Amino acid sequence: MFLVSKEFTFDAAHKLIHYHGKCERLHGHTYRLRVTIKGEKDEEGMVIDFALLKKIVQKKVISVLDHSYLNDIINQPSAENVAEWIWNQIEYLLDTPTHYLYEITLWETPTSFVTYRKDLSDKTHHSATSSR
Ligand SMILES: [Zn+2]
Repeated sequence: MFLVSKEFTFDAAHKLIHYHGKCERLHGHTYRLRVTIKGEKDEEGMVIDFALLKKIVQKKVISVLDHSYLNDIINQPSAENVAEWIWNQIEYLLDTPTHYLYEITLWETPTSFVTYRKDLSDKTHHSATSSR
């Protein structure tokens, strides 16, 4: 198995309502985004063509979010919520028999970032929610 990643940046403004900290007031970040695909090589020796990955993320994410006011697009645009929104924009376009979207990492600052994965085999969650 391979993990194949591409990175992007975009500038956007936001403010977090009901949050008492620096992000309470309107301001901007230069976000950095890493999209990671997991899969096996095809007959061309690639998991996914970097050019295709770039095209999908540019069209569905960067062109929408770059120089935007995130609150117009995403409710309470915390780094977590923005990462989840990005996931939902591109997951279906990256799901093939040989590869799929594995992970999204979103940096709000050079030292603050969140990683999002849709872990379908989260046994902890199942056991915590099952009733006996
Ligand atoms: Zn902020």
